[in-house]
Amino acid sequence: MSAQSTPSTQSTHDAALAPLAAELGDRLLTPAAAAFADTATVFVGGPPRTPAAIARVRTAAEIATALAVAQDAGLPVAVRAGGHHQARHALVDGGLVLDLRLMDGVELDAASGVGRAQGGVLAGAYTEAAGERGLATGFGDTGSVGVAGITLGGGIGYLSRRLGLTVDNLLGAEVVLADGRVVRADADENPDLFWALRGGGGNFGVVTRLDLRLHEVATVTGGMMMWRPTTDALVTILRTLADGPDEISGMVNVMLAPPAPMVPEELRGKPVLMALLCHPGAGADETFAPLRALDPLLDGVTELPYAGLFGGGGPQPGGIGDLRTGFLGTGTWSPDEAWATAAIEAVSASPGPAAINIRPMGGAIARVDADATAFAHRDPAFMVAVGGNAPSLEGLPVAQEWTASAAAALGIEGRGYVNFMGTATQDDVRAAYPGPTLTRLREVKRAYDPTNVFAATHNIRP
Ligand SMILES: Cc1cc2nc3c(=O)[nH]c(=O)nc-3n(C[C@H](O)[C@H](O)[C@H](O)COP(=O)(O)OP(=O)(O)OC[C@H]3O[C@@H](n4cnc5c(N)ncnc54)[C@H](O)[C@@H]3O)c2cc1C
Repeated sequence: MSAQSTPSTQSTHDAALAPLAAELGDRLLTPAAAAFADTATVFVGGPPRTPAAIARVRTAAEIATALAVAQDAGLPVAVRAGGHHQARHALVDGGLVLDLRLMDGVELDAASGVGRAQGGVLAGAYTEAAGERGLATGFGDTGSVGVAGITLGGGIGYLSRRLGLTVDNLLGAEVVLADGRVVRADADENPDLFWALRGGGGNFGVVTRLDLRLHEVATVTGGMMMWRPTTDALVTILRTLADGPDEISGMVNVMLAPPAPMVPEELRGKPVLMALLCHPGAGADETFAPLRALDPLLDGVTELPYAGLFGGGGPQPGGIGDLRTGFLGTGTWSPDEAWATAAIEAVSASPGPAAINIRPMGGAIARVDADATAFAHRDPAFMVAVGGNAPSLEGLPVAQEWTASAAAALGIEGRGYVNFMGTATQDDVRAAYPGPTLTRLREVKRAYDPTNVFAATHNIRP
């Protein structure tokens, strides 16, 4: 049991939280509540973290009360939407978690092309609702990720090269600041805050609403392809993605094949190349022809509604592991044979389930200036994430050792994507935010959260 969660400290916390309990009733959960354990579970497993309480807020006013009560009681605060961040920001030991999942409203205004998502909406729910009207905003590849979480860090997904990152499609937001004020952030109102929210994460306030640009995206050509793990195949696949038209987005995983129903038994647990692809325009067959020429083991790429790419249950929560990221090359550069061999060898030598996730950047992502948003990594050719899982907490150091050595072998250290970082040190913060971006983020932090209430994240220190 952590020092913060002994019975006597918990009763002190309960007393301090009484004004919030009076407002939220049974939506304020303490560890004694039956629903607490489930509500305190996030997507990624790890060392126990027990919040003093979880506030299942529904309104900006409730959030303001929760923030005031937490600050009066000296409790740290965490904010949770989808609960998917690998660094488990959504749980704070001995603190107050603001769980936004009851704020799950989506409004779609097709006439003005704006989708409005409350702070706890999940990407799959938004994508399905928009898909029913032939519309989409690009998020990532997984429906259970929170719209707010992915947007605040950047948002690299199936539509990024065609339509930009999710941050490039954020038109405005409503934010509850640490002092309880509710403000609008967009190009005209609080533009400095608007700039910081587009990549700077949960450092500035609680986002209760995001206004996102909707695009007409009905049917796409997309799905999964899998190949044997040869150097030539990996080089060809990555070159096809880097050189391809803006329409092509997605990712390639060099991974140990999962025990999924569509994976033939003899391949499970063996290294494979697996791509998840999306092409929203005409000419997909021509674009994908070089990939089909590699004689895939599985070819599930087909025409389907865009929202269909987010279906199918998604990954299982609860895994324990480590995740590191970096960026490679610029423009249409693509990795050579030596790099591809290193990637395949690293995965083949991994001590447990592992994947190297490689995503083409470029296209619309690269047409935005590095200083236009707090997501500054605009020129790399690829984003790479290295993930290693462990069977238990005891096995975590082994997985971490593997991710560190794989990241070094792939030359991806030094710059990183904040949404795919398993640790949250100040070195990670510097890797996510190059010098001038970090300087500007700190200025905004000093203006909007000078006492660093929102610290349970990749923390921009005031
Ligand atoms: C299975 C899986 C697939 C993924 N796929 C992709 C992908 O394709 N592309 C991609 O770019 N990323 C992807 N990610 C990474 C994902 O974008 C980040 O983990 C993201 O931070 C998750 O957001 P969340 O709301 O689910 O998580 P949470 O852990 O709830 O929140 C993450 C961070 O955002 C802050 N936050 C959340 N909501 C708010 C809010 N309303 N106001 C203020 N701060 C808030 C939290 O405080 C925390 O710091 C994936 C992650 C997983 C686990």
